[in-house]
Amino acid sequence: MDLKLLERTLAELGEPAYRAGQVWRWAARGADRFGSMTDVPAALRDALEQTVPFSTLALEREARARDGTVKALFLTGDGKPVEAVLMRYRDGRRSLCLSSQSGCPLTCSFCATGQMSFGRNLTASEILDQALHFRRHAGAVDHAVFMGMGEPMMNLDAVLGACSLLPDVGVANRRTAISTVGWIPGIERLTESPMPIRLAFSLHAADEALRSELMPVNDRYPLADVLAACERHYERKRRRVFVEYVMLAGVNDSHAQAVQLARLLDPRVYKVNLIPFNPTRSRFDASSPKAIEAFRRVLSREGISATVRLTRGREIDAACGQLAARSSRRGQPSPLGGGGGGGGGGSTATVAWATLLDRLGS
Ligand code: SF4
Repeated sequence: MDLKLLERTLAELGEPAYRAGQVWRWAARGADRFGSMTDVPAALRDALEQTVPFSTLALEREARARDGTVKALFLTGDGKPVEAVLMRYRDGRRSLCLSSQSGCPLTCSFCATGQMSFGRNLTASEILDQALHFRRHAGAVDHAVFMGMGEPMMNLDAVLGACSLLPDVGVANRRTAISTVGWIPGIERLTESPMPIRLAFSLHAADEALRSELMPVNDRYPLADVLAACERHYERKRRRVFVEYVMLAGVNDSHAQAVQLARLLDPRVYKVNLIPFNPTRSRFDASSPKAIEAFRRVLSREGISATVRLTRGREIDAACGQLAARSSRRGQPSPLGGGGGGGGGGSTATVAWATLLDRLGS
């Protein structure tokens, strides 16, 4: 829901200031239309149905895996593709993987999103609407990671604006993670933010030259400088930084590279997530499970806490942005792409509406 349009419309209709917060609380709790907001006057519900689209995103396609993972492809009002994923875990967690941009201006060589043309930054409302879609159709959600399309630190105002309202949807800031390829100005701003959001750093190669090859952003923000920014973040927040490391066969998965990675990382500051790569239509191959486990064991022996990320929704999986990229090349609305799959507290929604808008940013 375009929250700014909602506020403007309510003001034009002469409604009291609290009304927007009332409408938002319904949406955040999973209402699927203005008509179901029973404590909003009926005439106003009708007027809103006529003037404010219930979502800024149109669902283009959705796919469901046997393990409960749901992937959605949306189009923005101006036709830009956006992907989001809901992952359900056996321990009851329901985690969202959210996009911050349509496409991505960075060009990491292993990433399908990086190969498609960049659309634009998403607004805070467009980010929230990804979460609201799953809240409406799949029930409660409690974790979120910004690991879908885009580099969140390049659109941090909108990302933090959305994070300020995600607790109303059920996702506390402590259960939210923002993943970056190392955009230092964004890391520094997140360090200054009062919100206790987890920082995740997509490292992928401990060697500067290889990292630049995989991720050209490394030429702008070299690894050593990014690690220094992550360590300042840890000093301030006292929360470990997650290092994401995608496992590419014969590229970054050798014994020597595991040792090099371990020696680069301070075990007090970092925890490593090894990510099995989805190689669909890529020039890279996935490391074998055996190679991933051997890599993990080396890290553990060197004192670095490391886990292998569970793969979710494998049969509907595609690398983040892949099908969206293919469709955008055709100049058509895209079919389902599938997100990166990257990755408490209750919702009270008691904040006054003016404050909500302040938190969303402009
Ligand atoms: S990995 Fe992230 S930053 Fe790199 S191209 Fe893909 S979406 Fe962009």
